[in-house]
Amino acid sequence: MADTFHFDVLQNEKYGRYLVASKDLDAGELIFTDTPYSVGPKADSCPLCLGCYSPVENKMCSKCGWPVCSDECEGTAAHGDECAVFSAAKVRFQPVSDWTATAPQLDCISPLRLLLAKERDPERWQRELEVMETHTQAREQRPTWAVDQVNIVNFLVDHCKLGARFDKDLVQRVCGILEVNAVEVPSRGGFSVRAIYPRLAIAAHSCVPNIVHTILSDYKVNVRAAVPIKSGEILHLCYTHALSPTIVRQEYLLESKFFKCDCERCKDPTELGTHLSTLKCQKCDNGVILPINSLDSESVWKCTETKCEFKTSSAAMRKMLAVVQTEIDQMDSLEPGPQSIEQREAFLKKYKCVFHPRHALPLSVKHSLAQLYGRAAGYALDELPDLLLERKAALCRAVLAALDAIMPGQTRMRGMMLYELHAPLMFLARSEFGAGLITQEQLKDRLQDPIKCLAEAALILKREDPQCPEGIIGQIAQQSMEQLKESIESLS
Ligand SMILES: [Zn+2]
Ligand SMILES: [Zn+2]
Ligand SMILES: [Zn+2]
Ligand SMILES: [Zn+2]
Repeated sequence: MADTFHFDVLQNEKYGRYLVASKDLDAGELIFTDTPYSVGPKADSCPLCLGCYSPVENKMCSKCGWPVCSDECEGTAAHGDECAVFSAAKVRFQPVSDWTATAPQLDCISPLRLLLAKERDPERWQRELEVMETHTQAREQRPTWAVDQVNIVNFLVDHCKLGARFDKDLVQRVCGILEVNAVEVPSRGGFSVRAIYPRLAIAAHSCVPNIVHTILSDYKVNVRAAVPIKSGEILHLCYTHALSPTIVRQEYLLESKFFKCDCERCKDPTELGTHLSTLKCQKCDNGVILPINSLDSESVWKCTETKCEFKTSSAAMRKMLAVVQTEIDQMDSLEPGPQSIEQREAFLKKYKCVFHPRHALPLSVKHSLAQLYGRAAGYALDELPDLLLERKAALCRAVLAALDAIMPGQTRMRGMMLYELHAPLMFLARSEFGAGLITQEQLKDRLQDPIKCLAEAALILKREDPQCPEGIIGQIAQQSMEQLKESIESLS
């Protein structure tokens, strides 16, 4: 397949280099594909195989003594060049006591791979990587600079004897390129690694993105329009978790990506009417609490009721969100079971009078619940009473409504939620028909909604790698839609 390019690269003061559409694009249209310059472990990764990135324990490469899971992985191209470096310098991975804890020794791998790739293809480096942003001055002020200097720069140059090939400034720059530009991607085994995509890295950030990217099995990436985009419009990716509140996104972007986002969503205290940041006032009946200036990380938050005096600080807000997030993370870390639903419903009740019903944190719990109803033990779809089928449908709709505002168009999450939504709609229609509440004609009519959900879910998710969970759901959605259509036709 020939490479598709429907973008131009422009440059300005605000974004540096950025991408615009070079023609009118339809929702879902492929804009470009991108091949990673290199792939490797994330910073703070636990020990993993340097061939396939699955977790390993006590299994080492027979040549260099660094973690690999099998003979096959020992021979992968990704590991080949670094294997030669470590073997020549006789630098081995030092065994660790806990193989599930982060291993700073691995922090040198991704920078080393980038350096070796530069050596292999200096022209591509010149064309695609040399121009990448590194935020060196800002990084120098951070405590991580000194840590990188010891664990990565000195380790590679002095310990691994690479001084004749790479100088220390270059190695620090490579650390900066990775920190600022790398994208987190799932490996085949489902573990998270990071990759440098030369084209994707140019796309500017917005908290309301208009493009989506799909990672394929060989780490190639397809970048598509999520919504219709006019020729000349800026292509925006979201560098952070789009379903998090502004104060959390702003902190992440400043800390990790070295810029302050001032997009329309960040500027609006109500987050474009989604209320993903809004709290309920505890001191009056109808007030809600919003920041006076959502772009100011130290803004005062106050009640919207003119008669109410309630105020709080951004620091208190951050602290409260972190505590509640920890509670959510704890629920997420448990094995799914009947208690996964009960715990989350109890969580929503507990925080009902703290958060606006559409706040990002309860919304993320609703997102999990939407997937658990119908799956968790004791809550299989055909066992769910109508009331819980309606609950599942309402949870899906709550997530979809937020997505429409902040991540519009054909996104993976929309595809997954539409797939979840089709099931309760289908079961509810059949249950009402079974109870004699609707006629056969009305049943046929009602089943058009789940068909629409499945059709769109299949359209979106079939673009994913067929081996990944979303790609598998895409194929199931397609089959379910065909079966449902057949079953409607067989109703005479
Ligand atoms: Zn492996
Ligand atoms: Zn090796
Ligand atoms: Zn923003
Ligand atoms: Zn109030």
